[in-house]
Amino acid sequence: MSKLSKLRQVAFERQCGRCFYCGLPMIPPEALDQFATKLSLSSKLARGVAATAEHLHAQCDGGRDTAANIAAAHRLCNERRHHLRPAPDPARYAAMVRLQIAQGGWLKKTVRQGLSVHFGPRSFEPVRHAALHIDHDRRRQGSK
Ligand SMILES: [Zn+2]
Repeated sequence: MSKLSKLRQVAFERQCGRCFYCGLPMIPPEALDQFATKLSLSSKLARGVAATAEHLHAQCDGGRDTAANIAAAHRLCNERRHHLRPAPDPARYAAMVRLQIAQGGWLKKTVRQGLSVHFGPRSFEPVRHAALHIDHDRRRQGSK
């Protein structure tokens, strides 16, 4: 197992299997095929909620493979952050993602339902877990 996979696994356990950004459960990569089959999801859709190693301080900005810099996040949440230019800082990005989740967006409906069926409706709800070290930005984002 690569160093990065080990760090991902450590982060996964520390975060109780929850995505660092959106707070919803992640699927360990080795369980992905089973998850996709069980929920009749395409492997592409299922891959989006697989656990990946996320560099909080981006690799291209010099972020290293260390336990302090690696969080576990859905592939989708990980990739979307790095598609933004410049990539938002982790706390700001997490707040943005959670707002979208709360409004019923972010994940495709079929994926959302898949997670809900797989983990059970209650465990599907996003949580604020102590291990998700997110220092929430107190500035309010235009209250709706
Ligand atoms: Zn996520």
